Amino acid sequence: MEEKDVILENENDEQVLDFDKYDVILKDVNKVYPNGFHAVYDFNIEIEKGEFIVLAGPSGCGKSTTLRMVAGLEEISSGDLYINGKRVNDMAPKDRDIAMVFQNYALYAHMTVYHNMAFSLTIRKVDPVEIHQRVMKAAEILGLVPYLNRKPKELSGGQRQRVACGRAIVRDPVVFLLDEPLSNLDAKLRGTMRKELMLLHDRLNSTFLYVTHDQIEALTLASRIVVMNEGYVQQIASPKEMFDNPENLFVAGFIGTPPMNFANGLISTDGKYFEHISGCKLKLTKAQMELLKDYAGKKVIMASRSEYIAIDDASLKENPDSTFDLEVDYTEFLGAYTLIYGFYGGENVIAKVYARKPLGDVKSIKACYDMNKIHFFDVETTNRIR
Ligand code: ATP
Repeated sequence: MEEKDVILENENDEQVLDFDKYDVILKDVNKVYPNGFHAVYDFNIEIEKGEFIVLAGPSGCGKSTTLRMVAGLEEISSGDLYINGKRVNDMAPKDRDIAMVFQNYALYAHMTVYHNMAFSLTIRKVDPVEIHQRVMKAAEILGLVPYLNRKPKELSGGQRQRVACGRAIVRDPVVFLLDEPLSNLDAKLRGTMRKELMLLHDRLNSTFLYVTHDQIEALTLASRIVVMNEGYVQQIASPKEMFDNPENLFVAGFIGTPPMNFANGLISTDGKYFEHISGCKLKLTKAQMELLKDYAGKKVIMASRSEYIAIDDASLKENPDSTFDLEVDYTEFLGAYTLIYGFYGGENVIAKVYARKPLGDVKSIKACYDMNKIHFFDVETTNRIR
């Protein structure tokens, strides 16, 4: 009997793992390095076939360690990893249904593009006719046919990156693992390659697990983003959900450019207002009064995206109960919109306003929040109040 069947039929297993639906499952996966450093805590995710999962977070948060455990390059300290229906904790990397694309491409300098792509199949003793077919198909998908006889040093950065992808494609793996594959490219090429990766994923319809510290890559590529910090998963959600409804202050500050604005204050004792530390009072919506009824008289952190602060007359008229004086530090006119960098009660605020001309040398400006788009976070737990 296959292991897959054992797990599905195990009646004592409280959670039945659906291997028809999921390509990769991590269950309570932990990593403790030999020096005792706990790099990943209780990582849980079920990845559906064809999903594009992006692991994102600041340097050192544990994203590469997680990817390397899935690849089999790093031992799993505890927990279970399933790929394509099999528990693979103790399986060698070459036997797992994965192919990896590294940050530095790891191409063989002395081999042509063709042989770089064919190499992993040659050492697996795949039939030469099939190797040729698979290499040519990958080369066509990636637009590499004209370069098959070139060596890596005769290629541009973007072309080398495509060869690295080609080496993974010929393996026809269940899961593609990509570790910061665009970080060695300049900003313009990164944009182009982002689009190519998106198209490649659509075309292959395979499962991608992708590591980056760049939240723009995370937002543009992912079907779901996993944000990590200090070894802990902070939130797993679609880009839109993560942007609109960050689970805690860390995610709110990490996802989105500019990051969310945070304002410290408390909920008034009658439960109707947010009283900012500056003394300014903002009227809560009915839904917020209900949501925050246990917080009357208590401290909270209010958070707003820059685009939900306005300075135009119509918005100010519409939101008379949420206006405030924004002390202006400097402004950046960016054509379609202007960023105002300033302070509110001593706290930093960035407003993204649709002013069609530069604001000039203003010191203070009347602004208002769109209260329907405001979130509140618990000071103790740092979680969004919901
Ligand atoms: P980056 O974006 O900088 O690559 P990351 O999120 O991918 O960061 P990891 O490489 O997963 O981070 O490292 C997570 C933590 O584990 C870091 O604090 C790192 O110093 C630590 N670490 C990594 N490798 C080892 C090791 N072999 N022994 C001990 N600690 C390690």
